[in-house]
This record gives sequence, C-alpha cells and structure tokens, in this order.
Amino acid sequence: MLELKDITAGYDRRAPAVRGAHLTLRPGESLGLLGPSGCGKSTLARVAALLHRPDRGSVTLDGRTVTGFSHRAPRSLRTAIGVVFQQPRLSADPRLRLHDLIAEPLRATGRRAEVDARLAELAPKVGLVGDLLGRRPHEVSDGQLQRACLARALVLRPRWLVCDEMTAMLDASTTAALVGVVEEYRAEAGAGLLAVGHDPVLLERWCDRTTHWAEIVKD
Ligand code: ADP
Repeated sequence: MLELKDITAGYDRRAPAVRGAHLTLRPGESLGLLGPSGCGKSTLARVAALLHRPDRGSVTLDGRTVTGFSHRAPRSLRTAIGVVFQQPRLSADPRLRLHDLIAEPLRATGRRAEVDARLAELAPKVGLVGDLLGRRPHEVSDGQLQRACLARALVLRPRWLVCDEMTAMLDASTTAALVGVVEEYRAEAGAGLLAVGHDPVLLERWCDRTTHWAEIVKD
C-alpha cells in the first residue's frame, strides 16, 4: 500500500500548497489524480515519491512509515518508487548520454553488472533504437528524452510508479506509446501507479480509477 494521510506540504509553512490531502493506493492499482493547474498535484506527487518532506501528515509505503525524505529517504524505499516528471529537460542531466541517464540508478545502487542486459531489454521497449542511446539530451527531441526518463524510472523495477504529467508535452502517438510502456511494465511487475494530470480523457482511459483534487483535500 502507498498511503498518504493528512498531508500538508509546500514551500512556505504559512501558505502551504497542499492542505490535508489523503490518498491510498493498493498494490498493483492505478490511480489518476486530476486537478487544475497550480492546485498542488505536483507537490503531492513529490511527497508520494519521497522527494519532498511534508510539513504535516504521514506517508506509509508497503507497511513502513516514511521518516526521511529526499536524500534522507532509505535507499530500500527510494528505489521502490520510479518517478517521471512533465519536463524531461529539467529532470535529465544534460551531460549524460541517454545510455548513462538510464543506467545511472543501477550504477548508484552497485548493480553495474546488470547494466548491459537491462539496457538491451528496456531501450527497444521504450522505442530508443539505433544511435539514440549514444546521444546527449540536446541531441534528441522532448519525446525521445522522455522515453529515456521513463526507462530510467523503470530500470530498478520499482513496485510503485509516480507519473506527474508525464505526457503533457508530448504528441498523441508518443503519449500512447509511453502509456503503453507503463501498462506493459505494470502488467508484468504488478506495480502500482499514481498518474497525475489535468486531462480526464487520458487519465480515465489509462487508470483503474480517477479522483479529483477536491475529493482528496480537506479544504
Ligand atoms: P500543480 O502540479 O497542480 O500545477 P504545484 O504543486 O506545481 O501544482 O504547485 C502548487 C503551488 O505551489 C503553486 O502555487 C505553485 O506556484 C507553488 N510552487 C510549486 N513549486 C514551487 C517551488 N519550488 N517553490 C515555491 N512555490 C512553488
């Protein structure tokens, strides 16, 4: 289970971006979270991905109450969650070739030996073929870079995925391809998904259930 209870979070304690949010996700379930721009979805997604410490409330992941966030989160919890953001250029290190961008989490967790096999398996799945893996972010399109960011999010085989407006900047065919990759992975790994977005048509088609921001916050 991924449980967010009574989460208040933001960037200024006097005016939090999220107030009293509740969310529960069962293993293997996909939940679409809808809401208008600026309501606090990304902030809550970052809390769910253990990247942002809430000011109040608790996050429980697979029965463990999370006490450290961001670099203080225990590795075993951090690696249980894969995250994809809206803007790949803000999340991808511009110096890394796509191959290294995808492989970095394996190297960082001492699993270098798995790099070649995992890359050979993942790259075609996300549609990165030919010389694309050898290029740097400025040499590929937004869609190609997002494909690499998705592969990076999947490389450690996470039990949970958080996709924050993953396809908002992409065309329809790339959107369909990336949603297909996520769903194929979930079917194979039984991973749960929190997909954040503003497009009800996409999220209702993609997820087991959808909820609106107004339903998960107190005020
Ligand atoms: P959404 O994802 O629903 O668009 P966000 O969580 O990105 O909403 O933003 C919620 C509020 O927090 C907004 O008012 C936004 O301006 C503010 N905000 C987001 N990120 C930051 C930040 N890094 N520093 C300060 N304020 C921020």
